[in-house]
Amino acid sequence: MNTECIFCKIIAGEIPSQVVHRDDNYIAFFDIEPKAALHLLICPIAHTNDFQQTPPEIIAGATSVIQNLAKKLNIENNYTLQINNGADSGQIVFHLHIHLLSSDKNGNKKAKALTI
Ligand code: 5GP
Ligand code: ZN
Repeated sequence: MNTECIFCKIIAGEIPSQVVHRDDNYIAFFDIEPKAALHLLICPIAHTNDFQQTPPEIIAGATSVIQNLAKKLNIENNYTLQINNGADSGQIVFHLHIHLLSSDKNGNKKAKALTI
Protein backbone atom coordinates (compact mmCIF):
# COMPACT_ATOMS: atom_id res chain seq x y z
CA MET A 1 0.00 0.00 0.00
CA ASN A 2 1.10 3.52 -0.85
CA THR A 3 -0.12 5.67 2.04
CA GLU A 4 -0.31 8.74 -0.23
CA CYS A 5 -2.49 7.00 -2.80
CA ILE A 6 -6.24 7.63 -2.92
CA PHE A 7 -6.98 4.29 -4.64
CA CYS A 8 -4.89 2.38 -2.07
CA LYS A 9 -7.07 4.09 0.55
CA ILE A 10 -10.19 2.92 -1.31
CA ILE A 11 -8.76 -0.62 -1.44
CA ALA A 12 -8.02 -0.46 2.30
CA GLY A 13 -11.57 0.74 2.97
CA GLU A 14 -10.33 4.04 4.36
CA ILE A 15 -12.22 5.99 1.68
CA PRO A 16 -15.72 4.81 0.75
CA SER A 17 -16.52 3.71 -2.79
CA GLN A 18 -19.13 1.65 -4.61
CA VAL A 19 -17.29 -1.62 -5.23
CA VAL A 20 -18.76 -3.97 -7.85
CA HIS A 21 -16.00 -6.59 -7.90
CA ARG A 22 -13.18 -7.61 -5.63
CA ASP A 23 -10.84 -10.59 -5.63
CA ASP A 24 -7.32 -11.18 -4.33
CA ASN A 25 -5.73 -9.19 -7.15
CA TYR A 26 -8.25 -6.70 -8.56
CA ILE A 27 -10.97 -4.32 -7.50
CA ALA A 28 -13.59 -2.55 -9.61
CA PHE A 29 -15.61 0.41 -8.39
CA PHE A 30 -17.67 3.30 -9.72
CA ASP A 31 -15.85 6.41 -10.85
CA ILE A 32 -16.84 9.28 -8.56
CA GLU A 33 -17.37 11.61 -11.56
CA PRO A 34 -18.85 9.38 -14.26
CA LYS A 35 -18.11 10.37 -17.86
CA ALA A 36 -20.66 7.88 -19.27
CA ALA A 37 -23.93 6.23 -18.15
CA LEU A 38 -21.72 3.52 -16.69
CA HIS A 39 -18.18 4.37 -15.63
CA LEU A 40 -16.17 1.84 -13.62
CA LEU A 41 -12.50 1.77 -12.70
CA ILE A 42 -10.63 -1.54 -12.60
CA CYS A 43 -7.44 -1.50 -10.51
CA PRO A 44 -4.90 -4.02 -9.37
CA ILE A 45 -4.88 -4.34 -5.58
CA ALA A 46 -1.08 -4.01 -5.60
CA HIS A 47 -0.03 -0.42 -6.15
CA THR A 48 1.69 0.50 -9.39
CA ASN A 49 1.87 4.09 -10.51
CA ASP A 50 0.86 3.75 -14.12
CA PHE A 51 0.59 1.48 -17.13
CA GLN A 52 4.19 2.10 -18.13
CA GLN A 53 5.46 0.69 -14.82
CA THR A 54 3.03 -2.23 -14.54
CA PRO A 55 4.15 -5.82 -15.15
CA PRO A 56 2.37 -7.23 -18.23
CA GLU A 57 0.86 -10.11 -16.25
CA ILE A 58 -1.04 -7.63 -14.07
CA ILE A 59 -2.56 -6.05 -17.18
CA ALA A 60 -3.29 -9.51 -18.60
CA GLY A 61 -5.04 -10.57 -15.39
CA ALA A 62 -7.38 -7.60 -15.60
CA THR A 63 -8.69 -8.93 -18.92
CA SER A 64 -10.86 -11.67 -17.47
CA VAL A 65 -12.09 -9.39 -14.69
CA ILE A 66 -13.32 -6.94 -17.32
CA GLN A 67 -14.74 -9.63 -19.59
CA ASN A 68 -16.66 -11.19 -16.70
CA LEU A 69 -17.97 -7.82 -15.56
CA ALA A 70 -19.11 -7.02 -19.10
CA LYS A 71 -21.00 -10.34 -19.20
CA LYS A 72 -22.64 -9.74 -15.81
CA LEU A 73 -23.61 -6.23 -16.82
CA ASN A 74 -24.86 -7.32 -20.23
CA ILE A 75 -22.70 -4.77 -22.04
CA GLU A 76 -20.54 -7.17 -24.02
CA ASN A 77 -21.31 -5.23 -27.20
CA ASN A 78 -21.07 -1.75 -25.77
CA TYR A 79 -18.04 -0.69 -23.80
CA THR A 80 -14.83 1.27 -24.13
CA LEU A 81 -11.61 0.80 -22.16
CA GLN A 82 -9.21 3.65 -21.50
CA ILE A 83 -5.92 3.95 -19.69
CA ASN A 84 -4.38 7.38 -19.23
CA ASN A 85 -0.64 7.07 -18.81
CA GLY A 86 1.21 10.04 -17.37
CA ALA A 87 0.19 13.52 -16.30
CA ASP A 88 0.37 14.87 -19.85
CA SER A 89 -2.24 12.32 -20.94
CA GLY A 90 -4.65 13.46 -18.23
CA GLN A 91 -3.77 10.85 -15.60
CA ILE A 92 -4.62 12.35 -12.23
CA VAL A 93 -4.58 9.29 -9.98
CA PHE A 94 -1.24 7.52 -9.97
CA HIS A 95 -2.46 4.02 -9.16
CA LEU A 96 -2.99 2.06 -12.33
CA HIS A 97 -6.65 1.95 -13.33
CA ILE A 98 -8.54 0.96 -16.43
CA HIS A 99 -11.62 3.02 -17.22
CA LEU A 100 -14.60 0.96 -18.37
CA LEU A 101 -17.18 3.20 -20.01
CA SER A 102 -20.55 2.26 -21.44
CA SER A 103 -23.54 4.23 -22.68
CA ASP A 104 -25.84 1.43 -21.46
CA LYS A 105 -28.06 2.70 -18.66
CA ASN A 106 -29.20 -0.85 -17.85
CA GLY A 107 -25.56 -1.78 -17.34
CA ASN A 108 -25.36 1.03 -14.84
CA LYS A 109 -28.41 -0.27 -12.98
CA LYS A 110 -27.00 -3.79 -12.97
CA ALA A 111 -23.64 -2.53 -11.73
CA LYS A 112 -25.43 -0.82 -8.84
CA ALA A 113 -27.07 -4.14 -8.02
CA LEU A 114 -23.62 -5.78 -7.98
CA THR A 115 -22.29 -3.30 -5.44
CA ILE A 116 -20.73 -5.16 -2.53
P1 5GP B 1 -7.31 9.40 -14.60
O1 5GP B 1 -7.51 10.74 -15.19
O2 5GP B 1 -6.21 9.36 -13.55
O3 5GP B 1 -7.17 8.33 -15.64
O4 5GP B 1 -8.68 9.06 -13.89
C1 5GP B 1 -8.87 9.13 -12.52
C2 5GP B 1 -10.34 8.91 -12.28
O5 5GP B 1 -10.53 8.68 -10.90
C3 5GP B 1 -11.22 10.10 -12.67
O6 5GP B 1 -12.17 9.68 -13.63
C4 5GP B 1 -11.86 10.52 -11.35
O7 5GP B 1 -13.21 10.92 -11.50
C5 5GP B 1 -11.73 9.28 -10.49
N1 5GP B 1 -11.59 9.55 -9.07
C6 5GP B 1 -10.79 10.46 -8.48
N2 5GP B 1 -10.91 10.43 -7.14
C7 5GP B 1 -11.79 9.44 -6.87
C8 5GP B 1 -12.33 8.91 -5.66
O8 5GP B 1 -12.02 9.33 -4.56
N3 5GP B 1 -13.22 7.90 -5.78
C9 5GP B 1 -13.61 7.39 -6.98
N4 5GP B 1 -14.49 6.41 -6.98
N5 5GP B 1 -13.12 7.87 -8.16
C10 5GP B 1 -12.23 8.87 -8.09
ZN1 ZN C 1 -2.23 2.94 -4.82
